[in-house]
This record gives sequence, structure tokens and C-alpha cells, in this order.
Amino acid sequence: MLRYAINTSTLASKYMLKQNHAKLHHQIKNLTTKTAVRENVFSQSKIFTPGTVYHGFMCMDIQEIKEFNMTAILFKHEKSKTEYLHVQRDDPNNLFSINFRTTPFNSTGLPHILEHTVLCGSKKYPVRDPFFKMLNRSLATFMNAMTGPDYTFYPFSSQNEADYRNLQAIYLDAVFQPNLNQLDFLQEGWRLENSDLKNPKSDITFKGVVFNEMKGVFSENGAIFGEEFLNTILPDHTYGFVSGGDPLHIPNLTVKDLKDFHQKYYHPSNARIFSYGNFPVERNLEICDRLYLNDCVGIDSAYSRVPSQPRWKSPVEKNIKCRFDKMGAPIENQNQIAIGYLMSDITNVYETFVLQFLSQLMVMGPNSPFYKSLIEPNISGGYNSVTGYDPQMKDTLFVIGLQDLEVNKFEKVKEIMDQTLHNVIKEGFTRTHIDSVLHGIELGIKHQSTKFGLNLLFNLTPLWNHEGSVVEAMQIGNCLDRFKINLKNPKYLQDMVKHYFLANNHKLTLTMVPDELYEENIAKKENELLKTKISNMTDLDKTKVYEQGLQLAEAQKIQQNIDILPCLTLNDIPKDVMKVDLTNKTLNAIPVQVCRANTNDVTYFRGILNMSEIPNDLKLFLPLFNATATKMETKNYSYREFDELINLNTGGLSISTHVANSIGDPFQYEQGVLLSSHCLDRNLEGMLSIWGEFFKKPNFRDTDRFKMLLDNYVSNLTTGVADSGHLYAMQSANSLVLGSSLLKENLSGMKHIEFIKGKMKSETTESMLEKMSTISDLLLDRSRLRIAINLSKMKIGKILPHFEQFCFGLPIVKSTENSKRNLDMENSFQKSINGLHYKNNFSVNYCAKSILTVPFRHVDYAKLRVLAKFLSSKYLHPIIREKNGAYGGGARISNDGIFGFFSYRDPNARITLDVFDDTDSWLKNCPNTILDDQAIFEAKLGILQQLDAPVAEYNKGLDEFLCGLDSEFLQNHRNNVLQVTKEDIVEVCEKYLSKERQDNHVIGKCVIGPGEANESGRVLSKTGEKWNTVEPDFEE
Ligand SMILES: [Zn+2]
Repeated sequence: MLRYAINTSTLASKYMLKQNHAKLHHQIKNLTTKTAVRENVFSQSKIFTPGTVYHGFMCMDIQEIKEFNMTAILFKHEKSKTEYLHVQRDDPNNLFSINFRTTPFNSTGLPHILEHTVLCGSKKYPVRDPFFKMLNRSLATFMNAMTGPDYTFYPFSSQNEADYRNLQAIYLDAVFQPNLNQLDFLQEGWRLENSDLKNPKSDITFKGVVFNEMKGVFSENGAIFGEEFLNTILPDHTYGFVSGGDPLHIPNLTVKDLKDFHQKYYHPSNARIFSYGNFPVERNLEICDRLYLNDCVGIDSAYSRVPSQPRWKSPVEKNIKCRFDKMGAPIENQNQIAIGYLMSDITNVYETFVLQFLSQLMVMGPNSPFYKSLIEPNISGGYNSVTGYDPQMKDTLFVIGLQDLEVNKFEKVKEIMDQTLHNVIKEGFTRTHIDSVLHGIELGIKHQSTKFGLNLLFNLTPLWNHEGSVVEAMQIGNCLDRFKINLKNPKYLQDMVKHYFLANNHKLTLTMVPDELYEENIAKKENELLKTKISNMTDLDKTKVYEQGLQLAEAQKIQQNIDILPCLTLNDIPKDVMKVDLTNKTLNAIPVQVCRANTNDVTYFRGILNMSEIPNDLKLFLPLFNATATKMETKNYSYREFDELINLNTGGLSISTHVANSIGDPFQYEQGVLLSSHCLDRNLEGMLSIWGEFFKKPNFRDTDRFKMLLDNYVSNLTTGVADSGHLYAMQSANSLVLGSSLLKENLSGMKHIEFIKGKMKSETTESMLEKMSTISDLLLDRSRLRIAINLSKMKIGKILPHFEQFCFGLPIVKSTENSKRNLDMENSFQKSINGLHYKNNFSVNYCAKSILTVPFRHVDYAKLRVLAKFLSSKYLHPIIREKNGAYGGGARISNDGIFGFFSYRDPNARITLDVFDDTDSWLKNCPNTILDDQAIFEAKLGILQQLDAPVAEYNKGLDEFLCGLDSEFLQNHRNNVLQVTKEDIVEVCEKYLSKERQDNHVIGKCVIGPGEANESGRVLSKTGEKWNTVEPDFEE
């Protein structure tokens, strides 16, 4: 299911390139926590008694949730009928969210554009865009707003109570008293505008943030497929429409529609408020009641209820078209099929639990029946993005789909699907397989993330939205107990499958076939729509468009009095970085970092294997090694047995490449492979013996198995390029200025995609298998390993001996001395070009520019970091998003000292690159009203948000292990950031970003997307710049 958010600022800080986004699986695994179980907080909430009224809120229910050491309290506001759920827990990362049930009946993107516009100014805060302004005036650990198929919600979290109250005031006023100005609607939604603002005779075009955002969303074929699947299998009510907005329907929306929709759906009676954490809930109740709910007359919110979908009498089949992904598989293979069933009602919590369990059993991993029957014959590129169980709509869905297969395989897939279901009903599941999924649930409950509150909100919102019992959903233990009792009936799961699949006529088979004219047809339709709009306009209308364009541009330039927005002060900010309890040991010559933390009876293992001895040409195959090495047979086990062992003992093994620069010298870096896994303390021996087995080297000799893994790997290579295009563009631009960045690009960026696709044509599977073997020979050696362990303080005496044993049992080939971090010097990096254009058929661009500056340890680094934040909010965001209609833009400096600019879902390319290039002259002429002390302070706050972001117990000490960032260094850096002045940022801007310096060999640029339309007359390269254009199929 798709959900649309307003804010991309968090995207820029992640550096995960390969990431499967799309669906939020309603995984029990996600229900995890930050702080360890310390004390029972139940006693604190005894002041609430069901039936008593607190600040206008009647307490309806109070329940202890033992599984997670927390208490749930449900309230209902007497006058307004607003429901309120508070989850009290000893976690400082407090969360607050206001949710509305929003059920659109067209595809104009009403709820989504409303979500954006609501955050553009309200009665008490009549400034433009308080949301984006607050991003820089807060220490929020999360701030966003999201639109789903039938709800819209506005969550934020913070560890600082003053900050929390500030954000709460802004959010509440935004949703209940937004201004919904015409100009904000034009900026965020859609508008007609002269291509040259100053010339009323120039062409009129479509613009708008959401308009471009949605064009970007549907650049990803997975999004086209997912949306269509939802619209088709649930056709009769709100799910039949595109809640985010179809770009061809968005231009029918008016600001009046928006206001009407707000009045109807943002009524307090249709709202649900959620809070989580250890701040006093009474304050929340008092504020909501006094400021917004007390005067409200409650109404019956039944109008927004979503009815159950009437069931079909017979199955439905449908075929749709999509864009041809020129970076993907050959066109004849680039088809998708999915078969899905409508399942239970979302409010049946136990049924949801069992169906989730069943989906794991049936679909995931080499021991599941669908993996065996659909994936192993290797007729496709693996499961597609809609596969799995989705309990987010009123009626839940179960879908199994495949990507990258030939059209003539569709029939076969349907047959296999039916056959597999029959087999499952006949044969059932093995006890070990069931136990391994049960183990996953137990481990998931213990594993503690810093996003517990947020995950709780994401998981509970759809259920609550349909008036299901959220308390029941949190009490996982009850579901588990009931499930275990039911399992005593040996046919229990088989009967379930019979009921939900075989006896179910509400079944949709959706197929999707690429069409080379897809974009062209859409562009044609967009053009026709535009022409119709224009031809219906009088001269007066056209003058209005012209004047409106100028008006909006004027409004965007006006200096806002943002003093009316609350802001933290220096006094609200903690002075010190968190200390970490680390010790370093050497076990059998292997350096081991031990971190004592509150890991809640779970032990975490990480190992880095140095890869500098792997020859360069072989190194490029490493990502393939990482993706396959734990999935092949081993010395003593078949791949099925090995997988079962992994799932019975751990949360999974992960292997990824690791390239980290020295913080003192960008030309030195560590290169290696990062191993990681975690397990319940009681399974530690099991986990370590699995790694021990791995070190005996996987058997790379089963060609069929490897070929299947390889094909699935290749099929997923380009998934996510459109969603994270800015990250790919930044990495490509980085690769033009620094050797270690070129290595990163080769291992995970556009170059890697290019490389693997080339090898698929030129190499045999056998020769690749041989390379895998050589890599494991060169890598799996004790002398190349260093380790980090995060464990429970109290159990160190029990746990460490197991690691000792493990280290002494590892094989050694060479007897070189290990050291903490083996840094390699960059040698032969040759700079040859300034720009790279990955030209493809996306409908928007992703632009990036990189400039090599100074390493982390340098005195100017903190100044550059503040500069990047300042430029993002005061220069790049206003021009690239507000004025030019891209979804986002910004700047940042990375650990290796590369100062980077980026834009996201951008209708422009060269214009944006010019904005990047003009930075220093803009800052030189920047008036004091923009470059003032407050602005500098806000930029610093933005950095502290990152430095002070909560760190999970299992991640403590990891900065030091991976990148050499110890707490003393971070403390110094923090002090340096706080001392940066206005003058400092002007100085470093001139020193590092000036035009003169840019003529040097320190810059790189990249554009991913169509680039410039031919008729614009613009080209990407400038005088003196040398650009390469890479065509999508990578054929020169
Ligand atoms: Zn959006």
C-alpha cells in the first residue's frame, strides 16, 4: 500500500541505496523498543480510573501491556467525541500524532494536497510554511505528515519536553485552524503558470509540488502496480481512487474542494489523537481540551466509515500497461503478475495475527511452499513489491506476485499457484518450520529499536481508523497463547488455507506489461488536458494566470515574521554527548570491541572483514557475493537446512560492503565486508556456530541455485532508483571527485547496475560461481577480521567466553597481524570528467553536485556543516521547491568531506545546477535579514537533531567501530558546531564554494532523468565542463 509524505529531509541523511520501500508490512517484528525494560510503569498511571473525566476526556479503558512493559489508556472527549489513545512507557522519545479518517471519492489527490496545504500556515501561526520553518527550530527526532488510502496523519516525536510542547501547538493549530490560502494551494497542489513569469505571452504550463511528487511516484513501476492492485481489488468505495492523486486528475481540484473536504473530514469527531512516551498525558489532554475541543459540538462520524467490500461471485482478471524500465530486464521479460485474495476484516485482530503468520510460512525463505514452487524453478526475477499480507485496509489482502517474467509464463504461474495451495492443504507445514516463525516473533518482541513509538503508531493507525481494538492488538501474548492452543489441532493451518484461499471467489489476477509508448501517451494526455484548459480560457483568465504567477513569486520572496513561531533556546539543549561503555580486547589476535548496554537479553554481533587484498576486478563482484553467500549450501548443510538453522537461532544473517574514510584524511579509507546478526542470549552458541560454519566457506557449486539467486538479484537492481534518485545522483557525483567514492559507486551505485548488467551478457554462470569461490578464499580468514559485540551488562561473564571459543575456532591462512582499522591509501584516482548524465525516461530529474572540501577532523568542517544546513533552508528549499516546483532540494557534507547539493523529483535540471553554482554569489549578496544569528542558531539545531538522535542500545559504539568516531571526537565536534558564527560560514563559502575554486578539479555533477527537453534550448554542461551521457541500456 502506498503512502505519501510531505517531507524528504530524512531521506537525505540515509545512505542506504538499496532499499525496499513501498509497503509497510504490518510486522510484529517492528514492535520494538528503545530503552530496556527497567521498571513497571503501571504504578504511574493509577491516577486514571475508567469512568472518570479528566480535562473533558472520559477515561474509557486502561490496560497493562506486559509484553512491552507499557500501559495503554483510552479516552473519549465528551463534547467533541474525539478519541484519544495514550501509551505510557519509560521511553524518552515521546511521540504525538493527530489522525483523521479521510475517504476521497475521486483521484484529484484531495487528502494528499490538503495534508500539504494544512502545514502552510494557520490562525495562530499565519506564516508561510510553519512546518518547514519548525524543522529548523526544533530537536524533533521525527516530523512528518502522511496520507494513506483512508487516513491522514500528522506525527512528530521529540525527547525534549519544551520542544514537544512547541511542536504540539503548531500541529494542533495547523490541523484544526489552517488558513488554506489560495496561493499555498497553488504552490503545493497545482497551477497554470507562464513558463517565463515576466512574459504574459510565454507558454502556459502545469506546476505544483504534489503534481510533480506524484509524477515521481509513478515513475516507479512498483507504484503503478500497487496502486492499480488496490484500486481494482477494492473497487466499490474509497479504495477505488488514487488517494495521493493521479497527475491527470489533480488539475481538476479547486481550493474550494479543499476547504469543503477539510470541514468535513478534519472535524474533531472524525479525529483520533495518539501519544506515546513518558511525558505526562494530562498536559496533552488539558491542551487539546482547552484550545480546540471544548467549544466543539460532537457529530456522528459514521459518514467517513468504510464499508466492507461486497464479495465477488467469481474471480477477476485484468491487464494493465506500465513504463518500460530501460535500465531493467529485456522488454519481453519485463512483465509482472500478482494473484491476490480479499481476506479477513481488519478489526478481527486474532485473524490478522494468524494470517500474518501464515504469510511468513507460505512465502518467506527456501523452506516455504511458494518459494519452492514459484521462485526455485527460476521462471521470473523473484517476488514483486506487492507480495505478502497487507492488513491496512478495511478488508485485508493477501497477494503473491512475480516480476520480470515472460508473458507466456502467466498461465503457468496461475497453475502453480493453485497446485501449491492444494499441496499445502494436503501436506501442511513441518513443526520446525512453524517453530522458526514463532522464534522470529519472540526475538522481534525483544529486539529494541528507537522507533518503537512510531512503529506502534504506524501499525495501530489503520486498525484504529476502522474502530478496531488497539489494546487487543498490542497484547500479542494473548494472540500467541490462543494460536498455540489452536495449533494442537494438526489441521488448523491447513483449514485456514482452505477457507481463505480455495473457498474464496474474491480473487484478483493482475498482469502488467510494459509499453514503450507509456510515457509518451501520458505526456500526450497531459498536453491535451493543458490545451483544453487553455482553450477554455478567456483573455481575462490568462491575465489572471499571469498575475497569479507574479503574486506567488512575490509572496515567496516576502520576508516572514517567523518570530511568532516558538523556538528552542541554547538553554534547552543538552551540552554533552552520550557516553558509551566500551572496552577493547584481543581474542586470538582478533580485535574485539565490547559494548555493555541494555540489550534486553539479545546479543548483537558485527564483524568487518578487510577486503583490500581482493583484486580490483574481482572486488566489483562483492555485492553479488554478499547477496548469495549465506544462501548456498555449506560444508555440512544443504541450503534449506542452513536457512532453517539461521531462522531457529537468529534474526537473519546480513552481509554488506563497508567503505569508510579516515576522519583525518579523505584519501585514506577502510574497505571491507560487514557481517551482522543478533540472537536471543540463549541461542548464542547456535548463532556463533552458524558463523563458524560460514567461515568454513560456502560451497559455490550448485549452478541452478546460484543462477536463480543471481537472476533475482539483477531483477531488484533498479528497484528504488526512482524513489531514491537523489542518493544515486549524489553518489555518482561524489565518484567524480574521490577515489573511495568511486569504489562506493562501483559497489552500490549506478556504476554497479551498469557493471552487473554488462557481466550478465558477457560471463557464464559457471565463471561467476568461480569468482564467488575465489572471493570467499580471499575473505574468510581470521586474520582479516575485527569484531564488535553489544551485549547485556549483566551477562557479560556468560557471553564473552562463547565469543572467545568462537574466535579461537576460526580458520587462519595467513599469519599477519590484525589492527583495529586497516586504512588503505587512495592511489591512482584520475579525474577525467565533470558531469554524468544518466539519461532515462523518468518524468522528473534528480540533480547533484559534489565538491571535495576538508575531512571531518579539519577545523573548517563544523563551519561547512552549519553552512550546508543554512543553505538548505534559506536558499535551496525556497528556490528549488517553492519557486521551481521540485519536491525537495538541499545541501549536506558527508563524513569524507564531500560537500554535496541535491534536488529530488525535479522538473528542471540545468536551472537547478545553476542554482547550485550560484551559491557563493547568493551568500555574498545575502541581506542581514536572512543571514542573522537566529538563522545560524537554527542551522545548528538542525545538526544537533542528527547528533542527538536517539541511538538504539544495539547500535551504541557503532560509530566508533565503523568509522572511528569516538565520543571524545564527537564531543569536540559538537562544541565546534555550537561556536560557528555568521562570519565563519561566509568565510568557508568563499573558500570552498567559490567559482574560482570550482574551476579546479574538485567538483562533480550528476543528473539522473530526462535532463533538458530539446525545445528548451538548454544543455547540462557549461563552458569548460566535460560531461558524459550514459544511455539507459548502458550500450555505448
Ligand atoms: Zn506529498
